Amino acid sequence: MSVQRIRKGDTVIAVSGTDIGKSGKVLQIVGERALVEGLNLRKKALRKTQDNPQGGIIDKECTIAISNLMPYCPECKKGVRLVRSRESGKSIRKCQACGHAFDS
Ligand SMILES: [Zn+2]
Repeated sequence: MSVQRIRKGDTVIAVSGTDIGKSGKVLQIVGERALVEGLNLRKKALRKTQDNPQGGIIDKECTIAISNLMPYCPECKKGVRLVRSRESGKSIRKCQACGHAFDS
């Protein structure tokens, strides 16, 4: 059984790449990649439009390979591995180190 390590809504931390050490919330999973709030920001130039007559540059998130991310445990305060455990018929993901439950 393969474990999907990271899901939409999880808080994750980047463990490689330019944003190493930064954490954020998963906004979207796109295949093997994830869109994470505040991570992998790229400058994006905006065209001048009626709504935005000045044009300008905004920061926009780009996807990151899931292999560069780890689930962030708020109790261990770092990226951790998850284990699955079964409680009252439900499969729950827990921090391997401290047992913090990621699914409620
Ligand atoms: Zn933990």
